[in-house]
Amino acid sequence: MVSKEKFERELLEIFRGLIRIDTSNPPGNEIVAAEYVRGVLEREGIPAKVFESAPGRGSVVARLKGDGTMPPLLLLSHLDVVPVEAERWSVDAFAAEMKDNYIWGRGTLDIKNMGAMEIMALILAKREGLKLKRDVILAATADEEAGGTYGIRSLIENHFDEIKAEYAINEGGIGIVEDGRKAIFCQCAEKGICWIEITIRGEGGHGSLPSAANPVVLAGQVISRIGEHVFPVMKTPVTKKLLIGAEKMGFLPKGVKAADVFSSGKKLRLEGSRVGKRINAWLRHTATPTFVKAGTKINVIPMEAKISVDCRILPGMEPGEMLDIVKGLVGQLDAEYEILQRKPGSESKIDTELWTVLEKCAREIEPELGFFPYLSAGGTDSGFLREKGVVCYGFDPTIVSWEEQDTVHGIDERISVQNMVNGTRMLYRVIEQFCA
Ligand SMILES: [Zn+2]
Repeated sequence: MVSKEKFERELLEIFRGLIRIDTSNPPGNEIVAAEYVRGVLEREGIPAKVFESAPGRGSVVARLKGDGTMPPLLLLSHLDVVPVEAERWSVDAFAAEMKDNYIWGRGTLDIKNMGAMEIMALILAKREGLKLKRDVILAATADEEAGGTYGIRSLIENHFDEIKAEYAINEGGIGIVEDGRKAIFCQCAEKGICWIEITIRGEGGHGSLPSAANPVVLAGQVISRIGEHVFPVMKTPVTKKLLIGAEKMGFLPKGVKAADVFSSGKKLRLEGSRVGKRINAWLRHTATPTFVKAGTKINVIPMEAKISVDCRILPGMEPGEMLDIVKGLVGQLDAEYEILQRKPGSESKIDTELWTVLEKCAREIEPELGFFPYLSAGGTDSGFLREKGVVCYGFDPTIVSWEEQDTVHGIDERISVQNMVNGTRMLYRVIEQFCA
C-alpha cells in the first residue's frame, strides 16, 4: 500500500488546480484543462496528447505502457462541469477553497475528483515502476455534461485507437455512507435517452374567441397524460441485486422491502423520498415533460404548441418503442414528432476479473464496505464505449452522505480530503492488481 505521505500534498495540488479552471459547459472551454493535465503527466514522463474537437473544446489522452501481453485498461473521467448559480454558493465555486478538511468547488464530486485520483494513481504506478501487462490509458474528456459530441463521441469517431481498451473505469456509480454504513454501488448498466419534441397543431385566433382546438389547452392535456403515466416495473438482474443491496445496507425508505418493490408492480410510486425517487427511476422507463413553448401574445391563440419530453429507457428498449408509447399517450391529435436525441441503454457483464478486483481493492481500504451492481438513471460516456465493445464500470471510489450527494449539479459541492486520499489508493491498487 502506498502511504499517503507519498502523494497527498501533490494530489490536492493537482486536484485544486483542475477545479480552478472553469470548464462550465456551456461553453466548456475544456482545452485549458486538457493542456493542464497533459502538463502534469508529461512532467512525470508520461506521454499525453490533447485532441481538439472544436475551438476551445478538447480531451486529453495519456498512456502508461505495459508489455502488451494483455489488452489495455482505460481510466476515464470528464473535464467539463455544469454551470453554477454563483449567488447561491457560500464560497467561490472555482477557488478550490480548503476548509474543515474539505475542498469546495464545482466538479469536486462530478467528476474532477475522479480525474485527479486517476492522474495521481497513474503517476504513482510510473514512479513505483510497476511491471505492467496491460497499458493503462487515461482519458479526460470534454462535453460529457452535454451529450459528448465534442468529447467521447469525437474521440471514438476520430481517434478510437488512442482509447481502445478491453475495460474502462469511469464515473456513474455512487458511494454512500449512512449512519456509518458504507457501500459502493458500482455502475454496470445505464438507462438510455430518448428526447422527443412534440408539436401540437390546433386552431389559432383571437384570445377573446375560445376554441376547443386551442393548442395550448391540448398541450396541457397531453402534458398531464404523459406526466401522470406510470410505466410498469421491469425486473432485471441488476436492479434486483441493487435493491437487495440497498435493503441490506438499510438504505431503502422506511417500510419498503426489496421483494415488495417488484411484486407491487404498477401501483408502487416512490418519488416521495430521496432514495424512493431513485428506486422509481431504476425500475421503469420514465417520460418527463420538461419544456413547453407556445404563444407570443396574451390575446392571441397560437397555431401550435411544442412540448419536450425527456424519456429515459432501460437497457433493452429501443428509442423508437418509446416514441410509439408517447404517440399513444398523445392520442388522436394533429401532432408531429421529432426525436432530438437518442441513445439506447447499455449494460456490461459483471462476471469478470476486473469486477472481482474492484470489489477486493475497495474492501482493502474499507473492510466493512457493501459492494453492489448499479444501474444509473442518467447517462455517462460509458454508454458510447459499451457500444464499441468496451466493458465499462462506473466505479467512483468517493463515499459521501446523501446530503453531500445532493450537491452534485447543485450548490456547495465539496469533497473530503479523506475521500480523495482513499479513492486514489483504491485506484492505485486496481492498477497494481489488475494490470501488473
Ligand atoms: Zn459527471
